[in-house]
Amino acid sequence: MSTKPVHAAMHQFAVAGGELLVGGIPLSRLALRVGRTPFYAYDRALLTQRVRDTRAALPAALRLHFSVKANPMPAVVQHMAALVDGLDVASAGEMKTALDTGFDPAHVSFAGPGKTPAELAQAIAAGILLNVESDREIDTAARIGDELGIAPRVVVRVNPDFELKGSGMRMGGGAKPFGIDAERVPDSLRRLDALGIALQGLHIFGGSQSLKADAIADSHARGVELALQLAGEAGRALPGLYLGAGFGIPYFPGEQRLDLAPVADNLERCLARLDAALPGTRLSLESGRYLAGEAGIYVARVVDRKVSRGQVFLVTDGGLHHHLAASGNFGQVIRKNYPAAIGNRMDAARATENVSVVGPLCTPLDVLAERMDLAQADIGDLVVVFQSGAYGLSASPTAFLGHPAPAEVLV
Ligand SMILES: *Cc1c(COP(=O)(O)O)cnc(C)c1O
Repeated sequence: MSTKPVHAAMHQFAVAGGELLVGGIPLSRLALRVGRTPFYAYDRALLTQRVRDTRAALPAALRLHFSVKANPMPAVVQHMAALVDGLDVASAGEMKTALDTGFDPAHVSFAGPGKTPAELAQAIAAGILLNVESDREIDTAARIGDELGIAPRVVVRVNPDFELKGSGMRMGGGAKPFGIDAERVPDSLRRLDALGIALQGLHIFGGSQSLKADAIADSHARGVELALQLAGEAGRALPGLYLGAGFGIPYFPGEQRLDLAPVADNLERCLARLDAALPGTRLSLESGRYLAGEAGIYVARVVDRKVSRGQVFLVTDGGLHHHLAASGNFGQVIRKNYPAAIGNRMDAARATENVSVVGPLCTPLDVLAERMDLAQADIGDLVVVFQSGAYGLSASPTAFLGHPAPAEVLV
């Protein structure tokens, strides 16, 4: 049995005996093991490899955090917990998943606007880092801390006056529901002082899903400068600085893989700058999609094959309700195909055919692949959508039309 890599975006998955291998298991055998389709499968070895490669590429002093919302499957979070320095959560539900792994609460952080008093109380009681997004959250956290007799561990999330754009930087202060506007942060720091709460750090998230190393480096450098300015003005030490990594993955034809080398060089400079101006500040980078996205696939079975006015449709048991992003987000963007393949028909000699892969929903938006050249497929074959390890199932409207939810496996 020869093993050869698949092209482009799916390069991390191997092929043997005409089948895609997931966790070393041929896809049709994995489908039998799961017992039903559709399903999401996440490859443990690929997750590990991605974290290792990322760490190897970035400065050793940098701390790497996993953003749980990218893939909150408990088994995945458990796996990632052993590999990263921090877990970032965005809800009480994610906080529970993170804490269930046994992770040190001191390195679990909770961000997101509109945290309720109940959520704040849970976070304070658990001893995790609270990324406060408003003065209301600061006041409520202080009150709850008093009631519980536990000092809240507060990181102030800053709404920066810059933005990371996938297509370059868009400058100028923007209005955002996230964080406290940079120019108002000094007031908020004084508020913390008055309430007797020690500042644990600043959190700055410039943006996400960028494939441009220069734009990412620029956003990191600006984040560090902003943090130095805010801490300097307040004349205080900063235990931690938490930056959104912004690292993207290639989804569509023509997109180039992110080159981490210039990002790492810049981060070395950022660390040196921090060390000179604010010795003792630990720099952490948060990433979800980049760490998990390429290690996951979505698998649906062909249940019908139709030809309509010359166009071949493979109708599957999966679709938009399980994988909103691959379907094109309810038609709000110009739809492009995620990389896809017929995972049990991977032999190079097999003839291809131009087909559209659709789901069972009564909407023309339920498309997984539009007019793609795929291996000739028939009923029972397995359609694979790659780049599905982040913002897949948990970011999809599973209740829409009432079909069963897909299975999820970590292999
Ligand atoms: C969602 C989120 C991230 C992770 O974004 P990715 O694109 O998945 O890397 C990081 N930081 C914060 C504050 C977030 O909300």
